[in-house]
Amino acid sequence: MTTLFISDLHLEADRPDIADQFLRFLETEALNADALYILGDLFESWVGDDDPNEHYAWAKQALRQLTKKQIPVFFMHGNRDFMIGDDFATETGITILSDPTIIDIHGDKVLLSHGDAWCTDDVKYQAVRKMARDPQWQTMMLEKPLQERIAFAAQARAASLAHGGAIGAEITDVNADAIRQAFVEAGVEIVLHGHTHRPAVHDLNVEGQAVKRIVLGDWYEQGSVLRWDEDGPVLSALQRQEPAR
Ligand code: MN
Repeated sequence: MTTLFISDLHLEADRPDIADQFLRFLETEALNADALYILGDLFESWVGDDDPNEHYAWAKQALRQLTKKQIPVFFMHGNRDFMIGDDFATETGITILSDPTIIDIHGDKVLLSHGDAWCTDDVKYQAVRKMARDPQWQTMMLEKPLQERIAFAAQARAASLAHGGAIGAEITDVNADAIRQAFVEAGVEIVLHGHTHRPAVHDLNVEGQAVKRIVLGDWYEQGSVLRWDEDGPVLSALQRQEPAR
């Protein structure tokens, strides 16, 4: 049986093509999986589980359909949807994992993360991340009216786009030392993450040991999935089909 890993779908109301492909994926391949792991940025933005936005309703329902059929779904926060909380988990039946988490899959120990915490060259981003992941800051945000939170998220998104455009590509990628440290501290031979939108399998050497860093791709132009069965992990692109609905 196969375990599936995806990340960085960045679902949003004006990208029905991504929504359609994700739904199709949940209704077909995911139904036959051992488990589904979503390693962050499922949504382009999330301002709180109390957001009645209809665009999120179908996604919650689709995840619920899967967990109802006893397919375990695990979710890790990304830098866009870190405000997903316990109500979302209860509504959908998913399990929220802390970042990072070590899992055992077919005898391999794997370190899972969204990946943004390892982008340590981007000092400005790390400062924003530190603030936004602080439980006190999150509580303060959730006490604000929904409209205010939506406006704040839109502003943060625009600032993030401007910041990303202003710095070099190597700054927004993971830092090699941060990755090396992660391998050593976790004592694993495989690290799996998303966030950078640079799908690849990197063969590395950490302290004399051959290790692998697997990076999931985003779903902007096509899907990206890592399928892991008893023969090991395979990273694949999912072609976008014409929407049927
Ligand atoms: Mn991300």
